[in-house]
Amino acid sequence: MGIFDLMERYGHEQVVFCYDRATGLKAIIGIHDTSLGPALGGVRLWPYQTEEEALRDVLRLSQGMTYKNAAMGLDLGGGKAVIWAEPGAANREALMRAFGRFVQTLGGRYVAAEDVNTTVADMAAVAAETPHVAGRAEGSGDPSPVTAYGVFHGMRAAARWAFGSDDLQGRTVAVQGLGKVGYRLCEHLHRAGARLIVTDTDAGRVQQAAEAFGAQAMDPERIYDAECDIFSPCALGSVVNDRTVERFRCRVIAGSANNQLQEPHHGDRLQERGILYAPDFIINGGGVINAAEELRPGGYRRERALVQVERIYDLLLAVFRTAQEQGISTARAAEQISEERIALLRQVRRIFAPR
Ligand code: NAD
Repeated sequence: MGIFDLMERYGHEQVVFCYDRATGLKAIIGIHDTSLGPALGGVRLWPYQTEEEALRDVLRLSQGMTYKNAAMGLDLGGGKAVIWAEPGAANREALMRAFGRFVQTLGGRYVAAEDVNTTVADMAAVAAETPHVAGRAEGSGDPSPVTAYGVFHGMRAAARWAFGSDDLQGRTVAVQGLGKVGYRLCEHLHRAGARLIVTDTDAGRVQQAAEAFGAQAMDPERIYDAECDIFSPCALGSVVNDRTVERFRCRVIAGSANNQLQEPHHGDRLQERGILYAPDFIINGGGVINAAEELRPGGYRRERALVQVERIYDLLLAVFRTAQEQGISTARAAEQISEERIALLRQVRRIFAPR
């Protein structure tokens, strides 16, 4: 499929290919939709197999950011960037600074932030070349703790809808992935009195969680069969797929991973099975709220970000209500809520108002 065909299919405004001979930088910046404002989204560094794979990833991820930023009530559009490189590349600073130069050429249409395989130190390198970056150490920093906080509140909302109470005391939660978000989430859950079942491909992390939270360890492949109230994917995308969808033994799926449903019909199947799915781009929106806070006049204020993040609770209840009223999946209901906000603000912005 040609690039314009793909842009039409995903609804993109602009796709920027960046190449720098000196550093070897190969990056693609996807600007999906700027109806609400500049496109904010993370920079993913990944050793893609092919150019096509990198392109599809950036298109899919930047489209997702449009929905996420709209749903979180931000005046920001959706964007994302991918850097096609090995995570262990020795010239990391040079790659990031070259990337920052390209971000600067866009004049603020795209704002970079952290994502998979990029760090606060990388954002500092990008920031040396452009002000259009969030997630710097002196700003909002690593978004993961705030993402985990949002997932915890979202999980409480899902529990309220599914079980009639948002109290997680005594509930069994199976957490897949004990990384930056998953481990923090376990801390919140443990404090709330939940029983934990945990898994990770890194045995050291599992052992740490077992010791810290009295969590029951489980093999990564067996976690889908865990008898639990809530299954929380905090590792990979596409975990709800043909191979797993019939295996879940839970009432709720609520976690931080992006793109949890491999295909939309997997969301429908969860619904048929009576499993409440908390749409990923709503429940994991804490990270982007945190990054966006850095862009506000006066700069980053953690307390303000946390108050915003707590709204994920009500947002999810609104999603569940819409899904029930309209007889659609929760994933579709979440998309609809985002689309409605974008359409509304496009209308409002027809009115000329001098700056
Ligand atoms: P991370 O890399 O720190 O943690 C991921 C963990 O999952 C690691 O401990 C890894 O060993 C484990 N893992 C990998 N494959 C696994 C498997 N097959 N089974 C079990 N465990 C496995 O990443 P993170 O920042 O904690 O993010 C987790 C997920 O949440 C990702 O999908 C990410 O895209 C998403 N997310 C993160 C943020 C954020 O603020 N960090 C925001 C939004 C969404």
